[in-house]
Amino acid sequence: MQNINEIEILVKLISKLPGLGSRSAKRIILKMINNREELLKPMVKAINDLYKNVSRCKICGTLKSSAQVCDFKKCSIINKNFNSICVVENIADQWSVEASGIYNGYFHILGGTISSSHKKEELLINSLVERIKVNNIEEVILATSTTTEGQTTAFYIQDALKDLEIKITKLALGIPVGADIESLDDGSLIYAFKNRQNLLKD
Ligand SMILES: [Zn+2]
Repeated sequence: MQNINEIEILVKLISKLPGLGSRSAKRIILKMINNREELLKPMVKAINDLYKNVSRCKICGTLKSSAQVCDFKKCSIINKNFNSICVVENIADQWSVEASGIYNGYFHILGGTISSSHKKEELLINSLVERIKVNNIEEVILATSTTTEGQTTAFYIQDALKDLEIKITKLALGIPVGADIESLDDGSLIYAFKNRQNLLKD
């Protein structure tokens, strides 16, 4: 391959994306170069718009475009029938739960787990408490992964919510240990929701 700096930089970046290595990166770049007007130009604009306009809400953690308002009451979709919040680690988890059709309520996206790379303050737990109060939430469903970090995070949240008059449930065991919510098939996810366990407070 010729040493063209612009291409090399892009190969390195694309190779960092999930499922793509440098070989696929080069094929993607060639395809775009060969289709400058139909692919490359709109791609540049779309990525630029994505960077400028789309970000995580600092309150509920979900994705929003700059046109959408997200304050305490208007966070996510306002739905008077919603009386529960499902707490997940990542937006991909939210999408999986939504796709399964088992759950109808608000989401709260932590953005990770309590681990060396994520401090507790970054996980939007304070705003979770606020949302529970403001939206008259009756049940919080902890849907973190069954990894040690996911379970530690669930325990930490349970503790943070212990003074609130709400039901706290956790997805049923039966989910393989070490599994991400995102990677579960619909059947397992539906089973886990239907058989969720009530976490008793001390
Ligand atoms: Zn929000």
